[in-house]
Amino acid sequence: MKQALSIIGFGFLAACTQVPPPEPSTAPVEAAAFEPVEGEYCQTAVFKLDADFSAANMASCAVIDDRTIEVFLKPENVPINISPWYAVRLTPAQAGDVRVVLRYEEHPHRYKPKVSKDGRAWSVVPDGRVDVKASGYRVTIKLTLDEDAMFLSAQELFTNAAHDAWTDALTTKPFVQTGQIGASIEGRPIRMMQSDARVDAPKTVMLVGRQHPPEVTGALAMTSFVEEILGDSPLAESFRSRFDLVIIPNLNPDGVEHGHWRHNMGGVDLNRDWGPFTQPETQAAKSVIDEIADPGMALFLDFHSTRRNVFYTQPVGNDGTEYGFTAEWLSRARSNVADYPFDREGAHNVDLPTSKTYIYERFGIPAITYELGDETDRTVIAQTAKIFAREMMTLLLEQES
Ligand SMILES: [Zn+2]
Repeated sequence: MKQALSIIGFGFLAACTQVPPPEPSTAPVEAAAFEPVEGEYCQTAVFKLDADFSAANMASCAVIDDRTIEVFLKPENVPINISPWYAVRLTPAQAGDVRVVLRYEEHPHRYKPKVSKDGRAWSVVPDGRVDVKASGYRVTIKLTLDEDAMFLSAQELFTNAAHDAWTDALTTKPFVQTGQIGASIEGRPIRMMQSDARVDAPKTVMLVGRQHPPEVTGALAMTSFVEEILGDSPLAESFRSRFDLVIIPNLNPDGVEHGHWRHNMGGVDLNRDWGPFTQPETQAAKSVIDEIADPGMALFLDFHSTRRNVFYTQPVGNDGTEYGFTAEWLSRARSNVADYPFDREGAHNVDLPTSKTYIYERFGIPAITYELGDETDRTVIAQTAKIFAREMMTLLLEQES
């Protein structure tokens, strides 16, 4: 056991002299440290650290001393967007302070560390307990253990099981149907929720989420948004009577399961595959789109996360609607979301095979990437997503009548 060997000396020193243990090395890390080790864990007399759970990710780890473990992080493949996900579990043998040192190879630290005991209630580790060094490639996080295990993660763990439980709960509504539209490379179901209008020739509103696994705030917004349009309000009922709904909450379940930074198991950024459609996940989405009959789609929203709240839209004044859905929607919502500052960036990137580009080119309708900030307040996300949903429903209904 290499872990056991590496703690000899430091553990003795710390136990006998009460001096603080030495700072972990700042020396360059050998590339070999970042090579993923199957079933990796590290254990000291004080705590064990592992990544044997859904959405976990670490490449390998190393014991520095009884109270300090280094975690090496590596993306699934490169090149890759700067979304350095991490998620590990600490299981205490003794209570007290410990340190986890994140070591990055490809891209520097981005996500504020969050902790949870049960995987449901999360808190952000205070900045004073997080020491970012080496331009973000080495981050020391001080944690206090009691008798319970603790998850330490880049964002809340929004697992495939959580997606399924959420989808199943909504399926109890009589007007919601669910189905499997395909499977991921590893065979995980790609699920869809659907609600059918009660008028002839309705248009479809389509929502997609979780193309990029670490983008949990986008997933959180999507759940609130969907709950509002599948809710019991007169507005939602009226909206559902006039529009078909197609909802794919989790397009990259393999990436979610493995704690990927961005890609699917094919090493592909799914939101650069709308057009080529080389991957089973994007092919599943396309198969649904191909089934959407005339008059086609009214609106497409794709939920993501980035460093700020922003809507990536078609160029201003050119979203395919004469009345300008996008500008009107965001303007109405903005007056109701004072605690949710957001930008709009309009562009049409013909050479970027994103969902947004593909849908706009195929249908000539507003196709919008709804991006939440990584650290946007979670209560604000939930509240404002419902406001955006209500304003969307109101505006689309006005234009239909
Ligand atoms: Zn994204």
